[in-house]
Amino acid sequence: MDFAFTAAELAFAAEARAWLGANLPPAWRRDHCWTRADDAAWLDVARDWQRMLFEGGWAAIAWPRAHGGRGATVIERWLFDQELDAVGAPRPAAASSVDLIGPAILHHGTAAQRDRFLRPLLSGSELWCQGFSEPGAGSDLASLRTRAERRGGTFVVNGQKVWTSHADIADWCFLLCRTEPDAAKHAGLSLLLVDMRSPGITVRPLRQMNGEAEFSEVFFDGVEVGEDRLVGAAGAGWQIAMGILAHERGPVWTFTFQRRIRRSLGELIRSARDRGALRDPVVRQRLAQAHIEVELLRLVGYRSLTRLLRTGRPGAESSIEKVLGSETDQRLQELAMDVAGPYGLVPGEFGQAWLYSRSETIMGGTSEIQRNVIATRILGLPR
Ligand SMILES: Cc1cc2nc3c(=O)[nH]c(=O)nc-3n(C[C@H](O)[C@H](O)[C@H](O)COP(=O)(O)OP(=O)(O)OC[C@H]3O[C@@H](n4cnc5c(N)ncnc54)[C@H](O)[C@@H]3O)c2cc1C
Repeated sequence: MDFAFTAAELAFAAEARAWLGANLPPAWRRDHCWTRADDAAWLDVARDWQRMLFEGGWAAIAWPRAHGGRGATVIERWLFDQELDAVGAPRPAAASSVDLIGPAILHHGTAAQRDRFLRPLLSGSELWCQGFSEPGAGSDLASLRTRAERRGGTFVVNGQKVWTSHADIADWCFLLCRTEPDAAKHAGLSLLLVDMRSPGITVRPLRQMNGEAEFSEVFFDGVEVGEDRLVGAAGAGWQIAMGILAHERGPVWTFTFQRRIRRSLGELIRSARDRGALRDPVVRQRLAQAHIEVELLRLVGYRSLTRLLRTGRPGAESSIEKVLGSETDQRLQELAMDVAGPYGLVPGEFGQAWLYSRSETIMGGTSEIQRNVIATRILGLPR
């Protein structure tokens, strides 16, 4: 682990800070994670901010310049994320899809797909959703049943996806589906880029317990997709999907998450002080424990960043960060609700974050699955 930055890296951070200082509208600054539940203006601001980042060349700084990036290193990406956080920048509309489908198209797509899709993705003029999970295929994703049959130069898609985040506002879906029904389970999958306005697609939003309808069920009924929308080879979908899912964990996720829960802890300490709860020794102990865990997550994030620099991959250890981060936040939000008491249910208090934290040990792979990965791939235990 090396915590020192080079002069070039410090100059890069200063350039980013200056750009953010000159371009981020003060009204958009937030000291908490701003979501659809907070405010109807969320999407307009998130899209405008995405476009501004793109026009300034900051939307995907680690990508090659030819595709709208600035060829930045992993460390520069980390520094930029720190600067975004320091000024309270809102989350841009395409934040996660730039890191998920972006690299898949960059590395596995055709030149025509890169030309067609990457710039609208970076500018936020086209939004994406991830069509992987199905009612019978979540943890065991490779058992998915949505099928795409080849008819002439077209795939015809039939099936159902579920938990598809932001499907209701997405223009495109990166869809994992079965194209080779006779091949072995994992070898029969392919990744298709599907226009969400195609005839035969029905999106049915799912209302969650926090009042939001962030994700949907998506039904595909004879949806036609041109074969020029196949990413990589037919049957290569599993490998490409595993690359996409690796981006859902690893240091970018860890640091984004760590900064968010560090802010939550700060808010909780302020609120506990206002309520006189800091006189309670048990609350003080639990706050101190939460601080230890949030700091631990930061240090584990540095280790993960170092591993990424050395090997180019997040590695199986990213499962440790996923479990530590999501479970730390759940404990923190439980504490916040204990401190707030009935006031936790008042809008704007901690209730929303508490409800949302329940999903964190499920999304991107459940805690049980992460523990299986840790057991078999890190500890070498038998399956
Ligand atoms: C907020 C949120 C956003 C999401 N967004 C998307 C999205 O945009 N696109 C998308 O495709 N999906 C999305 N998902 C779905 C997510 O990927 C799945 O929920 C997750 O993979 C778990 O699958 P499942 O819900 O089918 O649960 P299941 O796989 O049915 O698991 C049920 C329970 O059994 C346990 N279990 C299963 N298998 C094992 C095993 N082998 N060993 C031990 N325990 C096991 C699990 O840990 C869990 O507790 C999202 C989920 C959430 C919560």
